[in-house]
Amino acid sequence: MSDCIFCKIVNGDIPSSKVYEDDCVLAFNDINPQAKVHFLVIPKSHIGSVDEINESNSNVVSHIFTTIPKIAKKVGLTNGYRVITNCGQDGCQSVKHLHFHVLGGEQLSEKMA
Ligand code: 5GP
Ligand code: ZN
Repeated sequence: MSDCIFCKIVNGDIPSSKVYEDDCVLAFNDINPQAKVHFLVIPKSHIGSVDEINESNSNVVSHIFTTIPKIAKKVGLTNGYRVITNCGQDGCQSVKHLHFHVLGGEQLSEKMA
């Protein structure tokens, strides 16, 4: 996806503060953090949102979720964290490349919406 900013981060056209990388996943700090620790975990291959997850691409989502606890440990999230993904217009998704927000490093609000 040539006009996707997260694809540009994956291929290095836009710089990012990386916290983890492997063959199919990239994690980097959010440019506008909403908590003391706030990073995004994305598949390197373009998937638009949760709404585009299916049987043929769900393996990378599974991999993301086995990777998140490892990254959390690495960055010192020892007391819990929150994982969020926004989907579509009602979900306030602003970047149309699947990403999971990981927030922590402090007590988060109970509010979810
Ligand atoms: P969404 O609103 O789609 O769930 O979240 C998109 C997130 O991407 C936002 O938290 C926003 O701050 C972050 N973001 C947008 N552009 C960039 C960028 O160029 N670099 C980084 N590191 N984060 C970005
Ligand atoms: Zn993309």
